[in-house]
Amino acid sequence: MGDSAVGKSNLLSRFSKGEFHLDSKPTIGVEFAYRNIKVGDKLAKAQIWDTAGQERFRAITSSYYRGALGAMLVYDITRRGTFKNLKKWLHELREYGNRDMVIVLIGNKSDLVDSREVEAEEGQSLAQLEDLCFLETSAKENLNVEDAFLQMITKIFEIA
Ligand code: GDP
Repeated sequence: MGDSAVGKSNLLSRFSKGEFHLDSKPTIGVEFAYRNIKVGDKLAKAQIWDTAGQERFRAITSSYYRGALGAMLVYDITRRGTFKNLKKWLHELREYGNRDMVIVLIGNKSDLVDSREVEAEEGQSLAQLEDLCFLETSAKENLNVEDAFLQMITKIFEIA
């Protein structure tokens, strides 16, 4: 989850299909994808839901938090507003989500170095404060995307 246009759909399509789209359409409601992934000696079948960031779909998305084992909370490193809104998203996650939910904080679009508005250290310290894992990714350049999903799935196995 996270604000509109931070790259949620592209992170999912990069991880599940190895695809990136320059002109992706906003997600309406919820979409999901599967991927089988080896974690140590276990095979996990990850089912990943892509929720819409827009307020108007809030009623649809909040019900999907309930059964989730993990959540990726995504902001765009080139738009400070998307970082500021993380508090709101965290509040919502903690209100609707299950208590042991693994949360990975993602600063996406790390390829856009010249337009950076949020430093990696800021993401890191928020993650520390809120007890989250943290990574910067680029769905476009395929940087850290695999790692971000792997970290989350590995953590889920540790907790289960
Ligand atoms: P969502 O609304 O959060 O699902 O965002 P999308 O995945 O639809 O992406 C919004 C826009 O940002 C699209 O134009 C994507 O091509 C672009 N985008 C997504 N990820 C990246 C990235 O890592 N780097 C760059 N440069 N653009 C990205």
